[in-house]
Amino acid sequence: MELKNYNRIVFKVGTSTLTHENGKPNFKKFEELVRVLADLKNSGREVVLVSSGAIAVGADSMKLPQRPTSIAGKQAVAAVGQCELMFIYDKLFSEYNQVVAQVLMTKDSMEKHSERNNVVNTFSKLFQYGAIPVVNENDTVVIDELVFGDNDTLSAVVADCIDADLLVIITDIDGLYDKNPAEHADAKLIHEVNEITEELFKNAGGSGSNRGTGGMYTKLQAAVIAQKAGVDTVILSGANLRKIYDLLDGEQVGTIFRAN
Ligand code: GLU
Repeated sequence: MELKNYNRIVFKVGTSTLTHENGKPNFKKFEELVRVLADLKNSGREVVLVSSGAIAVGADSMKLPQRPTSIAGKQAVAAVGQCELMFIYDKLFSEYNQVVAQVLMTKDSMEKHSERNNVVNTFSKLFQYGAIPVVNENDTVVIDELVFGDNDTLSAVVADCIDADLLVIITDIDGLYDKNPAEHADAKLIHEVNEITEELFKNAGGSGSNRGTGGMYTKLQAAVIAQKAGVDTVILSGANLRKIYDLLDGEQVGTIFRAN
């Protein structure tokens, strides 16, 4: 299938895209993202947004100098920030006549067959109703051993469970490079990956910013999950979200990991 015919698409956006360096919400980015997704929805596509940012936005609302490091602290600010996040999405999407649905998931629920089934059925009803699911991990209830931990993994699990055509991971770098571009000036962007090798993981490194959780490593892990589920993955930069249109017009944007 060609990209322009992809219908059911999961978008994952990270904290580093949605917040300024001082941790405050970046409304310009929220607005750009919502506008593009509302437009894709209007074009007849089914979109799901997996959004991080609860912890950062919550820490900012509580006027904490930095994100808490304790589990209870993170869970408490996530509880505050998740409300704030949904308030922002609800407000912005409603300007484009779109209805959003908050879906908070746990790893535990995805591993139990009956609960996973409920999740699948809920998504399918939401698509039928025409709502846009906005997904995050249920940060306030999960316990350490049972967390997805990063929304890259969560977005791939969601893409798998709803049989998505495409997973788009929006981040603060153009895509996957053959070596770390922060250390090597001659690093080259890889446009297409068919096989996700150990070598790619070795080059991927850790988290890119101190606001988010994942780095390129967790994005590769997500691409592996998606690939196994038969879902293509694209990693692209959040610097210009209009590039999502170019991507779906079949242009070369970011790095695509082909499922087959
Ligand atoms: N669920 C966390 C949040 O909303 C983010 C996890 C991640 O950064 O991937 O803050």
